[in-house]
Amino acid sequence: MICLRCGWCCINLEVVIPKEGIDFDNIDFDIEDSWCMKHTGDVCPHLLEQDGKAFCKLHHYPWFQDTPCGQYTQIGREDAECRMGRAIMDGRLPGVVITSGKGNEEE
Ligand code: SF4
Ligand code: SF4
Repeated sequence: MICLRCGWCCINLEVVIPKEGIDFDNIDFDIEDSWCMKHTGDVCPHLLEQDGKAFCKLHHYPWFQDTPCGQYTQIGREDAECRMGRAIMDGRLPGVVITSGKGNEEE
């Protein structure tokens, strides 16, 4: 699935994420203290806005693909756009506004 970076997941999903403040260059995923929960509705602390799109500041790390976020996908072709992201970007579903690291539900 191709993420269109609408930001919905990084605010609305309940997901385990690498804990903020740890050394991301020397992360040890076997240590429970490396992880924390991001609850539904909470803006992920790793989420930033860049040119109107969601930007994850962890995506470039080589270990990112092994995290729950990196493994996240939907049923369908690997090279297909995210259906929910497309609906949000086209205004068919309410989206999110990401401002300076903060995201808020749009009316
Ligand atoms: S770690 Fe990155 S991809 Fe996962 S919820 Fe946070 S900002 Fe989104
Ligand atoms: S809803 Fe789709 S496009 Fe939006 S952040 Fe989630 S995976 Fe990406």
